[in-house]
Amino acid sequence: MRLLSTLLVLATTLGCQPAADDTARYPAADLVLTNGNVVTVDDQRPVAEAIAITGGLIAAVGSAAEIAPYIDDSTEVIDLKGQTAIPGLIEGHGHYTSFGGSLMILDFRYAKSFAEIVSMVEEATRTTPAGEWIIGRGWHQDKWQVREDVLVEGLPLHESLSAATPDNPVMLIHTSGHGVFVNQRAMSLVELDGNTVAPDGGEIVRDENGNATGMMRESAQDVFRQAFSGHQGRRPAGVAEEEMRRMVMLAGEEALRHGITSFQDLGTSFAEVDLLKKMADEGNLPVRLWMAFEEQAAEMDGRLADYRMIGHGNNFLTVRAIGEKVLDGALGTHGGWLLEPYADLPRSHGLNVVPIEEIEYSARLAIENDYQLAIQGIGDRAYRELLNIYEAEFERHPDKSDLRWRIEHAQVIHPDDVERTVALGVIPAVQGIFACSDGPWVVDRLGEERTLERGYIFNTLAEAGLVPTNGTDPPVDEIDPIASFHCSVTRILPDGTRFQPQEVYSRERALYSYTMGNAIAAFEEDIKGSLTPGKLGDITVLSHDLLTVPDDEIMATEIVITIVGGEIRYRDGDIVN
Ligand SMILES: [Zn+2]
Repeated sequence: MRLLSTLLVLATTLGCQPAADDTARYPAADLVLTNGNVVTVDDQRPVAEAIAITGGLIAAVGSAAEIAPYIDDSTEVIDLKGQTAIPGLIEGHGHYTSFGGSLMILDFRYAKSFAEIVSMVEEATRTTPAGEWIIGRGWHQDKWQVREDVLVEGLPLHESLSAATPDNPVMLIHTSGHGVFVNQRAMSLVELDGNTVAPDGGEIVRDENGNATGMMRESAQDVFRQAFSGHQGRRPAGVAEEEMRRMVMLAGEEALRHGITSFQDLGTSFAEVDLLKKMADEGNLPVRLWMAFEEQAAEMDGRLADYRMIGHGNNFLTVRAIGEKVLDGALGTHGGWLLEPYADLPRSHGLNVVPIEEIEYSARLAIENDYQLAIQGIGDRAYRELLNIYEAEFERHPDKSDLRWRIEHAQVIHPDDVERTVALGVIPAVQGIFACSDGPWVVDRLGEERTLERGYIFNTLAEAGLVPTNGTDPPVDEIDPIASFHCSVTRILPDGTRFQPQEVYSRERALYSYTMGNAIAAFEEDIKGSLTPGKLGDITVLSHDLLTVPDDEIMATEIVITIVGGEIRYRDGDIVN
């Protein structure tokens, strides 16, 4: 019935002005937002004053007078008092449950020194039983203002950490996720010593005597992550599901506080999707999810068709992508795979993490099962290798078109590969905020000239005709679309200088990237991305108009209300249940 009445409303509003006296033709809306500055991201009607939502869908958008007939006694009416309503923001690249998990573990994003981190971990040992793991994440050596006396490749030694934590294995995850710093107890647990050989695609950083410093790059961290998850897996049944549900809720609430109504996850598992599906059926997902599998290709072979789902549970869960296997590492840890060596580590071109054959296998599975493929390519070499893999697969299937395969991060791109990306219809899924969080040290890694030509060239990509995208890769960076918007349109670094300022998005493009652009990158432009009658009633209300607020006031923009499917889920500082 709801759908029927919504269709009726659509039919009657298209092309004809409602007269105030024939309200019978305008079935009551569940929710009306009025007296606002409604920025629709829909060229048909870019600006309006009011929105009516019925049955979870946008019924009409118009002037306050045009929407008034949709109001009756049962309608909840919100007077926006001139505040700005935009389409619900879409996080274009993140890690949903690990983001939720990150809200439950030590947070080192603001740590100013290694010593501060050590004391935070020491504090945690007081409430952690002996033998239990202590996990932290978010540290970055370039944020430390105090340097240790002895450094190996810019990183400290584990001794002070190990002395403070004799009874607990400790694993501290780099902000990029591409390396961990561990203590002696953890190294003993996995029997790592002076003779241990690093796995392919990884590095055990050692001092001049050959002793492990505690830093494990790329695949060298896997053994520690496995030891930790093995330990977690041995806990009583039910504990794991409870913990996962808590992560889902925590991540969702944090998303809603930041105006995010949809979240694109790059890196889920079959077990995780099983639980998310259950939660979608229960109506318990706090935001809409688009999940991409990060499983071994051999594990996925034969299972993908059963798991493909689009808009499951009232459009809360979509699974139609194979995601972020990492072809290379991060620039921060010298892992991004480059065509030429690092300027500040000339012995290295970075790392090829997941073998090419594995990505090719995933590509075959993706095309056969009608999945998108979304692989990480940070360095220009990784980006080019991915284009090669994608192109080869497309050529084998000339019957298939509009596949929207993505390259995640796309931070360093050789100019020759821009046009190729356009020709192949590939989407570089970029994150605006990284230009500012990485900006302070990118020139060290790449040198001036290469940075200028290839670094974070997001507007060049959009000008070439590629879909503008955005996001913050939570928990790598904070889930803060306002910060990413600010960086996207200013490229202002924390010290006030600008990084690659010629690559700013216009205000309109930045808003588009967080709404329509991200929707297109997930095949969801028919239901999301703009405030258009018939689309989902996902709306974010802001204190400032992002299209006109001065640069230096963008960061003061607050999320006032977050609405998902016509339900108010966050308002004035509180989650609404
Ligand atoms: Zn990521």
